[in-house]
Amino acid sequence: MLATMGSIDLAEPPEPPLDALPFDRSRRRTKIVATIGPASDSAETLKAMAAAGMDVARVTLAHGTTEEAVERIRRLRAIVPAVGILVDLPGPKIRTAPFPESGVSLTAGSEVLIVGADGSDSTASRIGVSLPLLVDTLEVGDPVALGDGGVSMLVTGRTAGGAVVTVTSGGRLMGRPGVTAPTGRFPLVTPTPEDLARVEVMVAEGVDAIAVSFVRSADDIMAVRAMARSHAVSGLPMVVAKIETPEAVAELDGIVATADAVMVARGDLGVRMALEDVPHIQKAIIKSGVRYGRPVITATQMLESMVTASVPTRAEVTDVANAVLDGTSAVMLSAETAVGVDPVGVVTTMARIAQRAERDFDYIGWGSNVGAQEIAGSSYSPARITAATTAAGWRAAVEEDAAAIIACTRGGNTARAISRFRPAMPIVAVTPIEHTVRQLSLSWGVDTLLVGEADSTDQVVWFAVQAAVHAGYARPGDVVVVLAGSPIEAEPATDTLRLVRVR
Ligand code: PEP
Repeated sequence: MLATMGSIDLAEPPEPPLDALPFDRSRRRTKIVATIGPASDSAETLKAMAAAGMDVARVTLAHGTTEEAVERIRRLRAIVPAVGILVDLPGPKIRTAPFPESGVSLTAGSEVLIVGADGSDSTASRIGVSLPLLVDTLEVGDPVALGDGGVSMLVTGRTAGGAVVTVTSGGRLMGRPGVTAPTGRFPLVTPTPEDLARVEVMVAEGVDAIAVSFVRSADDIMAVRAMARSHAVSGLPMVVAKIETPEAVAELDGIVATADAVMVARGDLGVRMALEDVPHIQKAIIKSGVRYGRPVITATQMLESMVTASVPTRAEVTDVANAVLDGTSAVMLSAETAVGVDPVGVVTTMARIAQRAERDFDYIGWGSNVGAQEIAGSSYSPARITAATTAAGWRAAVEEDAAAIIACTRGGNTARAISRFRPAMPIVAVTPIEHTVRQLSLSWGVDTLLVGEADSTDQVVWFAVQAAVHAGYARPGDVVVVLAGSPIEAEPATDTLRLVRVR
C-alpha cells in the first residue's frame, strides 16, 4: 500500500471535469428512489422530481407491458439523464384482476367470491386472481390479504367455481393489488421465466439496476446475474435483492453477500411475517448491507398518506427519519410518486426529512463502530485490499479533518466501500465510466464526477484531485484523502491511499 502525503499545485487552472456541479456542503446524503407511474410520466414532472431530489427512478414491471416499460425507460434517459434507473421484476407475484378505476370498498364482515381471473374486472363481490392454481388450493381457515396488508380476509367456504372469503379488516382497493395467501402447497419459482426474458430486454436498454422480487436464496440472484451477463453489451446492471419473504430473512447474509444491493421490501414483508417484526428486520437488513458494503433501500409506505394528502402523518415523518438514523443508504417512494396527487411535493418532503435527520446523525460514532467488511471467501481478493485501504482512508480523513474523500473508481466498489463508514465529509467518486456514475446514485453520501481515462495511478490521482477542486470540494490549503488503484490492473484493487494538500 502506498500512503503518502503529497501536494498538488493548482497554479495551472485545471481542465473542467465533464459534469462539474458546484458543490453544496449542506447536500443531502441519503438517496431517494421514486417509482414512476401515470402521475409522474410527464417531462415537466420528471424534471421537477429530479430537481427536488430524485436520485433513482424505479420502473416496476408488475404493471403494463415490457414495451411500455421500455418506452418509459427511454423517456427517462432522454429527460433526466443523470438519474439512475432501477427496474423491478414482478417475480411470481399473484395479483387480482383490475378493480374499476374509481376503486372498490370492502367492509368487514362482507362475503366475497374469489375465482381464477377470467378476463372480467374485480368487483366488491367477486375478485379474480391471476393464478387460478392458488384459488384451487385455498382451504377453509386460510388467511388471504390484498395489497400491502390493506384488506384481510379468511376463507370460510368453497364453491365449484372458487373460494368464499369473509372480510376481517376492510379497506379500499384500486388497480391490481397483490394477493397473499398460503403458497406452500405448490412450487413458486423466482426469477420466473418471464422475469428472465425481461432481464434480457432491460440489459439491452442499459438499465442501471434490476430488482428481484420474492428472492429465497442467493441462487435466485445468481440466476438473474447470469442472464444479464449473457446479454450484456457494456456494463452489467446491479442486481438488487428484495427481502420480502421469511426464506430471504433466514438466508439474509448469503443473499446480501451475493447481491449488489438490497431492498427492505416492507410491503410484502409485513404480510408474510409478523408486522411487529418488520422494524427489526429493517435494522438487521441495513446492518447486513453495511457489513458487506451493499447499498440498502428502505421501501414502501414511507409517506403513503401523501398519495392523497399534501402533508404526511407525523408517524410517516418519524419513520423516514428513523430509517436515516438506522443508516439506510436510500429511501423509496412507491404509490406516492407513481399515482399520488403531488409527486414533486412528496420528493421535496422526503428530501427535507432526510436532510433534517442527517443533522443529528452520529457520523464519528457510526464510522468508529463499523467492523471489517465481510468478503465472501477466505483467500486473497481485490475486495479485501479495497476494504482495508478504505478503512484506513476513513481513519485518515477523520484525523486530518479532510475536506473530502476522493474515491477513484471504475466499477464503483471503492466508493461503496468507503460509503460504509458514513463519513461527515463528502465522498467524491471520480470515474471515467458513465454507467458507474448512475449506479452510485444508490450509494449513501456519494457524489460523482466524470473524468477522462488515465493510464497510471499517479495520473488517476492527479485528475481526480483536479476535478474535485474544480467542482468546489476542496480549496487551496485543504487536505483531501484519495483512494485509488492502478487503472491497468486486470483485477482492480484499491491499494493506494494518499493524503494530498491542495496548494
Ligand atoms: C414491497 O413489497 O415492499 C415492495 C417494494 O415490492 P412491490 O412494491 O414490488 O410489491
